Amino acid sequence: MIGNLDLHFDIAAMVIMAVILLQLSSKKNIPIKRSYVFIVMCILQVLVIVCSMGMQLCMYSDAEQYYKMSTIFFDFYFAIDYLSAIVFMYYMILWSGRSIKGKLVTKLHLIFAILLYAILIVGNFINHDLYIIDPQKGWVYTSKLQLLSVVALYAMFFGICYAIKYAEAMSYGKLTAITIGSACVVAGIIAQFYIQDTFFVNFVIAVSMLLLYELAQHPLNILDGNTQVLNRAIMDEMLALDIADEKEFELIVITMDDFKLVNKTYGIDIGDVMLRQVADFLRTVSRKGKVFRYGSDQFAIQIKSGSDDFNTVLDIITERFRHPWIYEDNSVRLSATTICLSYPEDGNTLGSIVEVLDYTILFAKKKNRGSVIYTKDVDLNTMRREKAIEKAVEEAILNDTLEVHYQPIYNTEKHCYTSAEALVRMKDEKLGNISPDIFIPIAERNGKIVKLGTMVFEKVCRFIHDQKLSESTIEYIEVNVSVIQCLQEDFVDTIISIMDKYDVRPEQINLEITETAEISAVQIIQDNVKKLHEKGITFSLDDYGSGYSTLGYIHQFPFYIIKLDKLMVWDAFETEQASTTLKYTVGMIKELNMHIVAEGVETEQQQQKLSSLGCDYLQGWYYSKAVPSDQFASLIKKAS
Ligand code: C2E
Ligand code: CA
Ligand code: CA
Repeated sequence: MIGNLDLHFDIAAMVIMAVILLQLSSKKNIPIKRSYVFIVMCILQVLVIVCSMGMQLCMYSDAEQYYKMSTIFFDFYFAIDYLSAIVFMYYMILWSGRSIKGKLVTKLHLIFAILLYAILIVGNFINHDLYIIDPQKGWVYTSKLQLLSVVALYAMFFGICYAIKYAEAMSYGKLTAITIGSACVVAGIIAQFYIQDTFFVNFVIAVSMLLLYELAQHPLNILDGNTQVLNRAIMDEMLALDIADEKEFELIVITMDDFKLVNKTYGIDIGDVMLRQVADFLRTVSRKGKVFRYGSDQFAIQIKSGSDDFNTVLDIITERFRHPWIYEDNSVRLSATTICLSYPEDGNTLGSIVEVLDYTILFAKKKNRGSVIYTKDVDLNTMRREKAIEKAVEEAILNDTLEVHYQPIYNTEKHCYTSAEALVRMKDEKLGNISPDIFIPIAERNGKIVKLGTMVFEKVCRFIHDQKLSESTIEYIEVNVSVIQCLQEDFVDTIISIMDKYDVRPEQINLEITETAEISAVQIIQDNVKKLHEKGITFSLDDYGSGYSTLGYIHQFPFYIIKLDKLMVWDAFETEQASTTLKYTVGMIKELNMHIVAEGVETEQQQQKLSSLGCDYLQGWYYSKAVPSDQFASLIKKAS
């Protein structure tokens, strides 16, 4: 029973709703169903408050006709209020990010709630049987209203539980907001049933809606602060919805190459301006496509199938990046790599789409900057393996589990082993033994080679020191160094300090380098090589004849040894032409006063021919494979 006329709570509720609606109308809204449903909920709530105030004013009026009018307000009040509960249930289902398409049980729950609601509310409009208005007692609810309340509470509970259970895309903060908000509403409704002196339930609901708005629906939750495009969280959510509905789409991810450099060169403020310009431009490239900030220097455009022409959009984007971006006096050239993915062909879940994109971005950053890449052309398994190997290398470095094996090198003049090549070995718990041919290029691409190379070099020096190699026939150890190492400013200092630490003399070290196609800063390498050469360390040119190491390279560095690549050696036993090439190559190198190591010697016949041709050193499985350091010591002892 209602006591005195008290509209304070309803007025306060109305003020809160006005605040929410004002914000909703002044700010950009999330362009997804859930947001529109939230607006509907707000409008319904305003109508509920209007009805609530109307029915109270009428009830407390002395005039008979006003008193009668209160039934109209009551009827609409219940109709709208309980409709809100069902809309809320649907809102919560939407929060889960799951479509109800094909979900029979969920649909049945929803239909059941709607049906009961419809029967009771329509019945009430005809018979006014949800409540009794008593001139003395005010209004009294009937068992039908109790049933309707149970239906409403059930709908709300169902919605809340559904959202909590399936809300994968929802952040912890949002989940908490929704849970607390809905719990308040439910508690408010139950409390209102027992405390009827004051009518506060609308106020409780309005406060909960404000909470929902601020924590879960607010545009700040969906827009990227700098560029004002939709943020990554909302992108995930929207994609998940389209995937659930099996709506085909194309994604274009634009990832800036070297954006760090832009920030460094022009400053973060101009970097931000550039990103804003790119975002503004991307907004114009398609009529219906949605633009998202995918990562700090990445944007994505989702184009639903049948809306815009994908290729046209792609052309507009690539064309724009050919021209500079202007801000005040700055003309900035930005390079971007564009990645294209189609749903469902290139990934049929949000997880697999993100995985494919992230892998592609990662590898594009290393290899295909500035180009357009279709994820369907990308071999995901290779990428996954490469990523796993990358991790294995990192762990091996961290846990110091890399081993160095030694392969003896036979001196054809002294008829004994006078040197050996240090070859790194990596064994991963999950991946097993991984060949350096595979993990070294990966370590070179991600820069880990520098640390790895230093570790190998230190192990070699410790080995030379501990095994007292100077007392054996072994004069020096050949250590592979990557050009990436040679490019480091502290390369010379690192090498020298490690040798000093283990008392290793320069004559005991020979560094092998391979020419690679990508050498861009030859000067730095030359300077470093020169410095070490002056200290007395010798150098070998590795893999000569394999395609990379060429004649031109020989003259740029003071090589002591040229190592003939095993393929060149093997070929010489296959064709007459290759045999002649080998013969003249050996002659030429000798003419240049350099020494020769022939690699890949596997047979007696190869060993004989290569010695007779004049190769100074022979290396290969005919003599020995690379063996662990302890075995190597006994192998040398035995041989001598
Ligand atoms: P590489 O420098 O050309 O090393 C010679 C490779 O040929 C070694 O392979 C060796 O085990 C193999 N080999 C030697 N004799 C024979 C033979 O008679 N027959 C055949 N079939 N193979 C033979 P491995 O150890 O797998 O090393 C592969 C490559 O990995 C090396 O080629 C080198 O480029 C790189 N690498 C190995 N250790 C290191 C390292 O510590 N640092 C760097 N930067 N690269 C390394
Ligand atoms: Ca080598
Ligand atoms: Ca080699």
